[in-house]
Amino acid sequence: MRLLDMVDSLVDLVIPDDPESVLGMTKDLITLRNATDHQLAAIDASGVARKAGSTTAKLLQANGAAPASAYRWLRIGAGLAGLDRTAGYSRDGYLSSEHVDAVVRGVAHVVDRSRDPMTDADRVDVERKLLSHAISGAPPAAIGAAARALGNEVARDTGGPPPAEDRSLNSVDYAVRDGRLVGKFDVDAVIGEKLFSALDFWSRARPEPDGSDDARTPTQRRADALHQLLDCGGGQTLVSAPRTEVMVTVPADHPEAASLSWMGPVTEATAAALACDSSITSITLDGQQVPIDVSPPKRLFTGLVRKAIIIRDACCVKCGAHASWSDCHHIKHFVDGGATTLENGCLLCRTCHMAVHNTDWDVIMGDDGHPWLIPPADVDPLRKPLPAYNRRTLTLAA
Ligand SMILES: [Zn+2]
Ligand SMILES: [Zn+2]
Repeated sequence: MRLLDMVDSLVDLVIPDDPESVLGMTKDLITLRNATDHQLAAIDASGVARKAGSTTAKLLQANGAAPASAYRWLRIGAGLAGLDRTAGYSRDGYLSSEHVDAVVRGVAHVVDRSRDPMTDADRVDVERKLLSHAISGAPPAAIGAAARALGNEVARDTGGPPPAEDRSLNSVDYAVRDGRLVGKFDVDAVIGEKLFSALDFWSRARPEPDGSDDARTPTQRRADALHQLLDCGGGQTLVSAPRTEVMVTVPADHPEAASLSWMGPVTEATAAALACDSSITSITLDGQQVPIDVSPPKRLFTGLVRKAIIIRDACCVKCGAHASWSDCHHIKHFVDGGATTLENGCLLCRTCHMAVHNTDWDVIMGDDGHPWLIPPADVDPLRKPLPAYNRRTLTLAA
């Protein structure tokens, strides 16, 4: 078998000593790799996977290809049709599959930006321009940038929308990594404007409760603003209850194994803190993943009760952060039968709220009708109750 003979030759290869031979061999190996990629990109056209009731992507991955490589070969295989010059450079191993991919995607991007269907001659002209970047050694990212610039020209010449207003370019991509949501977005001017307007108010620096400068970095402030935006729908009202509804599923036999519908498993403490002041629907599942109990999202402090708590506590009862940055915490947890009433609610900022759910900080309702904080033993061995923040300042001033 000829291909396996080539593998044997590669296995036996010895890197030579003199620099010139090393350079020559490097070039040959890369050419071999590029030409191999080109042949792999052509496999889809054979239709062999479809005939076997599968897909070429699955076939490639079943034989050891990484998903990114498999999908790149598929894009190249489909995209090279009609791009004869690029196909020639690809077949001869002169261009890497990453460069070929950038040209293929670049041409498709420019064609999409044209308001009218592009003629074959114009398409070949776009290919020639992008290919010249690739041949002159520009990296794939630079080919992509050149394609965007060409796309803008084509849009302008054909009366298509400028990039700032082309909704077809919009993308929001994210994936869950390590239980976190990581992503990037690329949106038109209208969405961008709305995002700026919505985030601007909430991402402004605010003084710390002691009057010192905001300790958060701008990027942390924007993340907090996004959280606030999701909770209040972008309004600037200080007393509205969170509007974004979330769903959590809990196996009946493993109440600690709570799972968010998009993000997956979270600790019991996080699920409890979320359940404390979110429009959350909790779904209990039996062993067969069948919902056996659905609790309606009724646990929110809303309307007059929320306003009354804000008037009484004024700010986070633990650290003094502004009321608009605070959740309404159930002093006796909702899951333990705690009611959604003035007597069972108190304001806690997000950081302090998590601390109360995750650590030994406790909140109790005092005989005076105000919440009191009980520090953990490692903070105060006697665990002497502290008045709420707005009452603490009054005490100090008195
Ligand atoms: Zn706080
Ligand atoms: Zn809470």
